[in-house]
Amino acid sequence: MKEQRNVTVVTGGSRGIGAAICRRLAADGHDVVIGYRSDAAAAEAVAAEVREPGRRCVAVPVDTADEAAVDRLFETAAAELGPVTGLVNNAGVSGPNGRLADADPSGMRSALEVNVLGYLLCARRAVRDMTRTGGGAIVNISSAAATLGSPGQYVHYAATKAAVDTMTVGLAKEVAADGIRVNCVAPGIIWTEFHEDPQRPERLATTIPIGRSGQPEEISGAVSWLLSDDASYATGAILRVAGGL
Ligand code: NAP
Repeated sequence: MKEQRNVTVVTGGSRGIGAAICRRLAADGHDVVIGYRSDAAAAEAVAAEVREPGRRCVAVPVDTADEAAVDRLFETAAAELGPVTGLVNNAGVSGPNGRLADADPSGMRSALEVNVLGYLLCARRAVRDMTRTGGGAIVNISSAAATLGSPGQYVHYAATKAAVDTMTVGLAKEVAADGIRVNCVAPGIIWTEFHEDPQRPERLATTIPIGRSGQPEEISGAVSWLLSDDASYATGAILRVAGGL
């Protein structure tokens, strides 16, 4: 019998939550394609960790908001590792922090482009490929901000994450008959370099019912489960992993 390989593209896999997802997927038997924007050394370090348990891995520079770059990412993935069976849409940026009245439009535009257009472009390409090659699974990384709204912090960012929730629900219904599942993980406040104030996860700990911010490794298991056959009947789900927020 031919071995069924899991080949999963993780955007923003060079650090933070994306890097934890890459490591977890490798441990769970996936070959991994790491998409990263600028930090090649960080991406290569994660790739070395993915290869350690014997999995295959390539790191590919990509701006997920650029259609041609997204096509190159998926073409490289297929050429180097074979048909793509999974996509984790994870690469995201906050844009400006503060009140909307003070927000710089170019920063807001880049958050919209990366967090919304970038997810749509990657999902579009994944769906095209997976429809041809026998199906697969997509996990979008949203945020608890999608339902909290993030007043005073970044309302525009929360709006992009609400768009991620909505595209998950719609696309899940659109491609279910093609053998493609689409789900979402919505993290709360996680210790990564994402935050403009690096101590924000500590500062906000008392506002979180569980009493602390989360670690990237507390997100990656949920992603791996949604990609796995154990989640074969889950599609269109938004799984909140946010310490009660
Ligand atoms: P992070 O530490 O800032 O890492 C962001 C990653 O995205 C990096 O690998 C970065 O690549 C990549 N990236 C950024 N812009 C890109 C682009 N245009 N094209 C390709 N890659 C790009 O962020 P994180 O905290 O791990 O966040 C990951 C996801 O979780 C994001 O979608 C974020 O919105 C979401 N999230 C985070 C939190 C949190 O508290 N941390 C909470 C809820 C949701 P380079 O390093 O090469 O620049």
